[in-house]
Amino acid sequence: MTLILLGAPGAGKGTRAEYIMEALSIPSISTGNLLREAVKNQTFLGLRAKDLMDAGKLVSDEVVVSMVKDRLMEPDCANGCIFDGFPRTLHQAEELDKITNVDMVISIEVPDEVIEERMTGRRVCQSCGATYHISSAPPKIADVCDKCGDALIVREDDSPEVVRQRLHTYHEQSEPLKGYYEAQGKLRMIVGTGTVEEGQKLIAKVLGIE
Ligand code: ADP
Ligand code: ZN
Repeated sequence: MTLILLGAPGAGKGTRAEYIMEALSIPSISTGNLLREAVKNQTFLGLRAKDLMDAGKLVSDEVVVSMVKDRLMEPDCANGCIFDGFPRTLHQAEELDKITNVDMVISIEVPDEVIEERMTGRRVCQSCGATYHISSAPPKIADVCDKCGDALIVREDDSPEVVRQRLHTYHEQSEPLKGYYEAQGKLRMIVGTGTVEEGQKLIAKVLGIE
């Protein structure tokens, strides 16, 4: 099963991906996490991507697609995967169609105002990439990752100005993907404003795993 999670930044793609990953035993591929890893390791690619990411703009299709191609070759992707944050442009979607068969696309719908409020409370583990929210999904110990014990941080691109830019980028470049997948009969839309548990129920329903 190969799934795509669409939705604005902060719509909850990461949280939903973690749930699906466990429910279906398939890995989640987050291009945002892959890019942040490249930035942290100061690879050639990471150095090129950093300024664009900090500004809330998209990294080039070429870079992201080649990163995804490499990741898909790893053995854990043999039975499919969940894409979180990819594809983000029509061109990326077309390239993905050339390398794998997408079964379903779930778009998580959240209004911009809600997104802006959510982002300020977001915390991310700097080691494993797990995400938390200070009020809606807090870690057991403040600022410490439940999964690996490392410190949680606020991402640089979660500042209000950058969040607004990211929303703009999303509406302009990524939202048209809904039409692309709707035309293929693969699009499912779910409400993303409820609790984490409510979100899981909606996901389970569209996946038929209730
Ligand atoms: P978000 O919380 O906005 O969904 P991500 O962690 O998915 O954040 O991505 C962070 C940044 O990484 C994006 O703002 C963008 O600069 C870059 N990025 C991630 N995925 C892609 C992609 N598929 N194409 C282009 N740029 C990407
Ligand atoms: Zn962690």
